[in-house]
Amino acid sequence: MSQLGMLIIVSAPSGTGKNAVIKELMKADENIFYSVSVTTRKPRNKEKNGINYFFETRDEFEKMIINKELIEWDEYVNNYYGTPKKFIEEMTNEGKDVILEITVEGAINVKEMWPEAVMIFLLPPSMNELRKRIICRNTECEDSINQRMLSAEKELDYVNDYEYVVINDDLSYAVNQVEEIIHAERLKTIRNKNIVNKLIRRKK
Ligand code: ADP
Ligand code: 5GP
Repeated sequence: MSQLGMLIIVSAPSGTGKNAVIKELMKADENIFYSVSVTTRKPRNKEKNGINYFFETRDEFEKMIINKELIEWDEYVNNYYGTPKKFIEEMTNEGKDVILEITVEGAINVKEMWPEAVMIFLLPPSMNELRKRIICRNTECEDSINQRMLSAEKELDYVNDYEYVVINDDLSYAVNQVEEIIHAERLKTIRNKNIVNKLIRRKK
């Protein structure tokens, strides 16, 4: 196991399949824990407070910003979204890997504070398919769909800031690719200094 848990950042235009990919990934890997974000957006039909998001008012969210309870936050389609600091710190200190599903701006902010964070950009197979997926999910009104599609165009400009890109065409193939990235990242020398140092000490 790594000495400190990894932060795995997954970004993608809304509707690409972040949730779907992460859900499958977590079934396959019990050392990955999901960072539940705080948002001022209203819950969708099946979403539960504390599981999908912590749903808060704008006032509460702004208090969390002032109290420095978030490692990053961003505004997306008229709502605030942010990552609670405490969970990230506790889990990574215990050597557990944490997955963050956040906007491109949020990802760049986390990477500045946490340079060893792993950044993965999920892409839809096409913009037509993206719109279809948002419509099929049946969670957004026409206005929100259009705003999400507009944001998607801008988000794609940030793909070069990410170390990895995975196309979510076939879901299980995409999940496998994300698993492979995580497995390789766990083997990086920088994440295994404890083991290496122990061996070096024994040799002397
Ligand atoms: P995001 O979290 O990126 O907003 P979701 O995970 O909610 O996206 O996925 C949006 C919709 O697309 C959902 O209805 C989901 O079931 C569907 N979806 C996800 N991945 C695929 C895929 N590879 N092929 C077809 N549909 C998919
Ligand atoms: P949705 O409303 O579709 O659940 O999420 C909208 C966007 O907000 C997605 O791009 C999602 O990844 C992003 N998001 C969710 N939680 C956070 C967060 O804590 N911080 C940031 N910066 N973005 C988030």
